[in-house]
Order: sequence, then structure tokens, then C-alpha cells
Amino acid sequence: MRAALQSEIGQDKLEVVEDMEAVGFGPGKVRLRIKATGLCHSDLSAMSGVLPQPAPFIPGHEGSGEITDVGDGVTQLKIGDRVLVCWLPPCGHCPSCKRGQGHLCLEAFGNVATPNFRRAGHEIFGFAGTGTFAEEVVVPAGCAIPIPDDLPHDIAALIGCGVTTGLGAAINTAKVEAGSSVAVIGCGGVGISVIQGAKVQGAAQIVAVDPVASRREAALRFGATEAVAPDAFGDAKNRITAGEGFDYVFEVVGKSATTQTAYEMTRRGGSVVVVGAGALDDTYSINMFSLFFDEKKILPSMYGGGDVLRSYDRTIALWRAGRVDLAGLITHRVRLGEINDALDQMRTGVALRTCIEL
Ligand SMILES: [Zn+2]
Ligand SMILES: [Zn+2]
Repeated sequence: MRAALQSEIGQDKLEVVEDMEAVGFGPGKVRLRIKATGLCHSDLSAMSGVLPQPAPFIPGHEGSGEITDVGDGVTQLKIGDRVLVCWLPPCGHCPSCKRGQGHLCLEAFGNVATPNFRRAGHEIFGFAGTGTFAEEVVVPAGCAIPIPDDLPHDIAALIGCGVTTGLGAAINTAKVEAGSSVAVIGCGGVGISVIQGAKVQGAAQIVAVDPVASRREAALRFGATEAVAPDAFGDAKNRITAGEGFDYVFEVVGKSATTQTAYEMTRRGGSVVVVGAGALDDTYSINMFSLFFDEKKILPSMYGGGDVLRSYDRTIALWRAGRVDLAGLITHRVRLGEINDALDQMRTGVALRTCIEL
């Protein structure tokens, strides 16, 4: 089957190959025919080495498809079921899951170090234990979450990562209060989802901050009340909050420098919400006086910061009610053979999300 392969960390192009094999099928596993997959910024970060990932590997962790085979002991899924891929599936019984924090469950993360594919006798990993830039994947049954018939695969794929991450940061982690002021640094697919989450929560002002003009225009369509380039952020803060700072500032880049900006733009007692996935060697530090005296809350938010299965259901309900626009996030579409175009669209910032159709 066809798949997009990265041979070594640091390469910026993928090789589309025809002779990939999905391996590991057996008890507790399911085989999926991937129909659509989104390109998430984390895929680029894994390719460049910012996020740890063994190689060679197949990127992609935001996917949706159909079950084609079910291993022994899997009772909740059957052949033909439409499912989205959950790259960090909650096991349901560990201490994190019992607390309702299934997004912190590490039970399935052992998959990350287990090869998911084979080609010409060589073992090949799948990003985050999945690897959805492939026509076929084998994953633990818990990674395959059934979706309703009215939810298209391209939208379901986005719910598998970017949309859940962004909406959840605003709704679960920050619990944005109605009438509050919000700023969002970084307005790709995840940042736009934060904006939509803040709008759902009833924020009064939502300021989008991004260096790319097309993203600022998109942010306004999705609910931002104002969109500025980074060098105009300080002026916007002074004008909108009378110099005090925003109630919530979301960092959706994953860098210490933008986290520092977020911290400075947050009012005393407000919340800095860190949504971006950063590097092991990028350290954020803060002086102890400010940490105490300004009482700004630093709230990291991974994968939506809550029970992911509940978050999926809530997202689907909001989408059906027309309260969030998910189709509009897909600004570009390519076939797997054009995957390198998708990478360029993401790197230059012209795409909110590129959907790869398989
Ligand atoms: Zn668990
Ligand atoms: Zn992702």
C-alpha cells in the first residue's frame, strides 16, 4: 500500500512509496483504511526533530477511516465502522483516566516505540504510534473512535487532533469566562480552534496575533474581534484592556519567546495558556517575584486538557449546531502523491489545515 515515508529525522521532504506494509495486527488491534488525514504542525515538528520520534517513520496522527479487520477480543468495533484516530487513547483504568484526565494517560504511549510498518525487511515507526499518511494502519482498538454517519472523514480527522486541542484549551483548560478578553498568539488550525472555543464560551474581545496576513483574515472570519501582526500586539493590549493586559492569552506556537510575550500581555491574575508543543531544549524561565506578585496562572494544555472522548462528543454537537465551523478550517486539499505540497502550505502559513485524501 501507499504511504509517505521519512527515512531520517531532519529531512524536509517525504517519499511516497507503494510497497509499505502495516504490521502488528492481532488481539486487541484493528486495521483501518485511512480515508482522510490532516497535516498538523506536530508532524512537521517530528520531521525536524523538535518533537522526539524514532525514525524511519510515517508521519500523520490526525486521521479518519474505516475498519477493515478486527482482532480477537475487540468487541466494541466491527468491520465497516467509520472511526477517527485518537493518537493518545485513554485506557479508562489508570490513575489519570480515573481522575477524568484521559489526555494524560500514558498507557498506550508504549506504541510510540513499537514499529507500525515494514518495508523491504526494515521496521518503520508511525508518528505518535499511528502514522496516518498511509492507506492502511494497524492500531490498538482504543485508538479507533466510532463517528456518526453525518460526520465526513475530512472533518473527523481534524477532531482527532487540532480541533480538539484548540477548542479544549479554551473550554476545558482556561474555562474562558463570558465577557472576558482573550488574545491568541499563532492562528493556524489550532489557534483558530482556540478562537472558536473562546467565542463559544462568550469572550467579549478575541484578538488574533499572527505574522501571516491570510491567517489574520481567517481569524476574523472565525470569530476574532480584531487581528494584528505581532508588532502591533502591544498597542492592541493598551487600547483594548486600558494597559492592564488580557484575561487570557493563548500561546499556540510552542516557543519560550512567544510564551514570554503571552506572559507579558496577560493581566495580573489572568491566565497564560500554553497550547503549542515545544522542544526539549527550549527552556522558559520566570523570576520568582513576578511569579508570586503578579499571580498570573500558567496553564499548559495538552490535547485539549480534558477527557478526549467527551471532548470529541462536544465538538460534534457544536459542529452539528453550527456553533463552530470545521469545514472552513480545511483551506487546501491534496492527494497523497502531493504530500510535499501540503508540507510547504503548512510551513509558509498559507494553509490553516491541508486535508490529504487517500
Ligand atoms: Zn489511562
Ligand atoms: Zn496534532
